[in-house]
Amino acid sequence: MYIGDYLGRRELYSPDRLAVVDVGKTPELRLTYRQWNRRVNRLANWLRRHAGVEKGDRAAILARDGIEHLDLFHACSKLGAIHTPLNWRLHWREVLGLLQQTEPKVLLYSGDFGENVAQIRSALAGTGHPLQHYVHLDGQGIADSLSYASILELAPETPVACESLEAEDIACLLFTGGTTGLPKGAMISHRMIVWNVMNTVIHDLRHDDIYLNVFPLFHTGGLFTYTSAQVVFGNTCILVRQFDPRQVLELIEREGVTVFAGVPTMYQMIAEAPNFEQADLSSLRFCTSGGAPLPVPLIEKYIREKGVRFKQGFGMTEFGPGLFALAPEDALRKAGSIGRPNFFIDARVVDDNNRPLGPDQPGELVLKGPSRCSGYWNNPEASAAVIDEEGWFHTGDIVRYDEEGYFYVLDRKKDMFISGGENVYPAEIENVLYRHPAVHMCAVIGVPDERWGEVGKACVVLKPGSQASEEELIGFMQEHLARYKVPRSVVFMDSLPLSGMGKILKRELRKMFVEDAGAGSSTPAQ
Ligand code: AMP
Repeated sequence: MYIGDYLGRRELYSPDRLAVVDVGKTPELRLTYRQWNRRVNRLANWLRRHAGVEKGDRAAILARDGIEHLDLFHACSKLGAIHTPLNWRLHWREVLGLLQQTEPKVLLYSGDFGENVAQIRSALAGTGHPLQHYVHLDGQGIADSLSYASILELAPETPVACESLEAEDIACLLFTGGTTGLPKGAMISHRMIVWNVMNTVIHDLRHDDIYLNVFPLFHTGGLFTYTSAQVVFGNTCILVRQFDPRQVLELIEREGVTVFAGVPTMYQMIAEAPNFEQADLSSLRFCTSGGAPLPVPLIEKYIREKGVRFKQGFGMTEFGPGLFALAPEDALRKAGSIGRPNFFIDARVVDDNNRPLGPDQPGELVLKGPSRCSGYWNNPEASAAVIDEEGWFHTGDIVRYDEEGYFYVLDRKKDMFISGGENVYPAEIENVLYRHPAVHMCAVIGVPDERWGEVGKACVVLKPGSQASEEELIGFMQEHLARYKVPRSVVFMDSLPLSGMGKILKRELRKMFVEDAGAGSSTPAQ
């Protein structure tokens, strides 16, 4: 037995337990731990023997949620290789940038991204990039790409392991941030995964839990909130292709789901689904909400109409999703709080001079603990910038804690807003806007939106004598950015408010537009 062979252990301990149900497949796929481990051995054997994937090499996936994400994660773990899931919401040029940064040898992709992959492949052709193996998961696939089904059929199912793997070795890269351009790849070690599982299960899981995952599997929420812990416990995970409120309600009832997690926008959509009223949610032990504060009326509605208890969670890519927890007993009494630090997390609130603050004093949340990531891929400057001399990780979140030690998120130091659970970094959008020939100055802020929580608004000053319409600028941004990042509105201004140092004062813009936010009435699908 070796570290990293999570499924090999499970085949040993509980071969016949139901491990995974992928309802995004036709017909639905249901696998026991034995079946799943054998399947992943096949993939791992192919990766090693045919694609030359060795310890430390990357293997990427660009696909909607489905078992292949977890297949690749576990196959890489067996090999000591680095699972590299890519955000399918990104524009193909953004994905290309991430592939150039991480240089995987293999790319698995689902048919709906075939066109993007074709663009990427022609951009990489002749550049000496190591990506040589394109594997399509479904549909036709681009020319010369191999089908996933053929790998699972032809590769041997003999056990695969990496004898030299250590807990500090990197298991996967998860992309986050983007304040200065492309998202950064947080390096997630096996040690980090273990401690995140510990932090999570201490409060949450039992040995018979059934978890329905609707978070994207390219994000820490999908890969690590409960999905990894469920494997360690030998429990069942249910996977869907993409979040669909109606289907969530059906599946909770049909599969007897006991644990569910979502961001507030999802709970709002579920409560508005046509089958909410008649849905039986009595199998749920609790629901976890994270990513942003859950509105109190929504908590009350679920309790009143469905008897559902809510836990609040707080997490981040760099430290794992299981950082803070607010127990269901406190959901109303401490509404708006993220709860207290989990068992193996040390948390402090500090001022600008790094001095610890007492109760009810707002400051930056800093963290210590064994679930910290190992820095950012190929980016030592960014890795060093978030850790201070005493070893505290600076989150960029402004928080306070009350007399009883319950924490509240107040604001963010990092220039970021959250739209439908996805972090959006204005600097990335501004970088694109500045490439437009008519744009002289610009600043993007998040404004409240009923459906998505927040959406972007671009404040733009045009160059003298230049012209551009709102539609034109939005169209331009759509050419370069993922849809959820593109601001829903553009406002043209004569000048932007500037500080004495010449910095754009975003808080002034927020005062102007957030207080009488007429923005965000439109809600196209993201
Ligand atoms: P990510 O790395 O994408 O998971 O984003 C982490 C960030 O999301 C945190 O640093 C917070 O700014 C925000 N966040 C996560 N959970 C919550 C929560 N429960 N309430 C408010 N903000 C949250």
